[in-house]
Amino acid sequence: MALNEILARAKKEQRAVLTEIEAKQILTGIGINCTDTRLAASKTEAVELSEMIGYPVVLKISSVDITHKSDAGGVKVNLKNRDEVEQAFDLIMESAAAKFPDANIEGVSVQAMAKPGIEIIMGMIKDASFGPVVMFGLGGVLVEVLKDVAFRIVPIDKNDAVEMIEEIKGKKLLEGYRGQDPVDIACLQDMLVKLSDFVDQTPGIEEIDMNPVFAYKDGAAVVDARIILYQ
Ligand code: ADP
Ligand code: MG
Repeated sequence: MALNEILARAKKEQRAVLTEIEAKQILTGIGINCTDTRLAASKTEAVELSEMIGYPVVLKISSVDITHKSDAGGVKVNLKNRDEVEQAFDLIMESAAAKFPDANIEGVSVQAMAKPGIEIIMGMIKDASFGPVVMFGLGGVLVEVLKDVAFRIVPIDKNDAVEMIEEIKGKKLLEGYRGQDPVDIACLQDMLVKLSDFVDQTPGIEEIDMNPVFAYKDGAAVVDARIILYQ
């Protein structure tokens, strides 16, 4: 679905939070690579989509009322066959119903299982004084414990993106630490500029959170995404 359609639908439904599926559709539309992610409204559909996408797959709860999916028992990774998908579907639905009894659940998202990479976070927040700023950092434990992130005011250009990535304390992890392959830093720079251009040109976006992004030797994939609209 195109950006305008997604924004119009959210507005009509008076909701500020887009689903992961919607967020990834928007990001894909601006040229940012996201894992192939589709909505299944039933267990049968979840199996059909898994077979279309190809195993292993990931199933996640899809609800505008549940933003932290893992907390709801709503993420099952590395599902290798039909049985595992069916079981995961039931477990996710049971857990979501128990933890968020009032949530409006549209189904599950079925997505390609991304191969492991270096975990990155990228996003946009609105600063009270500076307005929209883009953010780049190392993901996982590093961001939680060390808050190793860099910020720049929107709009940014290629040089700003280069500097942001240079600024990260854990930059060595991106450069091929202990015999690992270096990651595709040019791809990450390009993603930051695309993100900034999008935010700059699209009014009404309050926050964007890509967490995690897996960075690879060649390219990168957004594995989870969240977009919040201004209301
Ligand atoms: P949450 O809403 O809890 O942040 P995520 O979508 O980030 O849920 O999923 C939790 C974790 O599961 C991720 O941090 C990542 O490690 C793993 N994961 C999620 N989606 C995928 C995927 N498509 N491929 C591989 N791993 C994934
Ligand atoms: Mg996440």
